[in-house]
Amino acid sequence: MIAAYEIEKLPQGYYAKSGTVLKRKDSLKEGQSLLLFLRDLGPRWVSAPGAASGKSRFGGATEPMMWGEYTLYQSPRFLYLKEAEVREDFIALRSEPRKLIAALEFYRRMSQVVITAHESDQLLRVLWSAMTLLRDGAPAQAAEFRYNWRLLNALGLAPSLQNCVKCGSRFDGGASWSEDGLVCGRCSGGEPAISEADLLELAEAAQLPYEKFLTWSQADIRNNLFDKHVKKLLTFFREIR
Ligand SMILES: [Zn+2]
Repeated sequence: MIAAYEIEKLPQGYYAKSGTVLKRKDSLKEGQSLLLFLRDLGPRWVSAPGAASGKSRFGGATEPMMWGEYTLYQSPRFLYLKEAEVREDFIALRSEPRKLIAALEFYRRMSQVVITAHESDQLLRVLWSAMTLLRDGAPAQAAEFRYNWRLLNALGLAPSLQNCVKCGSRFDGGASWSEDGLVCGRCSGGEPAISEADLLELAEAAQLPYEKFLTWSQADIRNNLFDKHVKKLLTFFREIR
């Protein structure tokens, strides 16, 4: 099981980093709090005084899913947002319901796992890459499979799409899901539930380099294949508390 770790408070002073808004909490009394996910600094709860009022001085930069440059000030007690500038708003995704659902799910899952990860810059890259793939035309279903596999991989929890989890042999004729990962026909003792062709397609979705994935995913791939197997992938997040 992977547990959350303590995020150290920053030394007093100013910080300017790029990143994204994972979550936002509004409260009448305390104003707005943002869970920012920042390069080098990882996930940080930041208070943004005045941001919740009608004419926020931060503009749209405190909305979830925004990417921007954030200037912070660490006082002896609190971390404050001082300035924010939008770099990418992913506004086009908001008019495509299926992609918006995928993007919201990327953010929800990242908010859950990010406090367990020491290698948070790698996770930030996984999120950025998934968002730009959606924006640039990748279908939501394949992008979801890719995102979840890569996120699990960054956490050291991804099931191998090439080798049997029980005997280690390379899959040459399909595989079946087990609680621990994918197993070969010999280990499952039956006909593999996933054909060799399907397994290859899943591996391509997860592992092709960015540009190749983008081209490949816009060719003739089957969305329902990814819908089915992403559900299995999600069970591997159970290690995280
Ligand atoms: Zn095996």
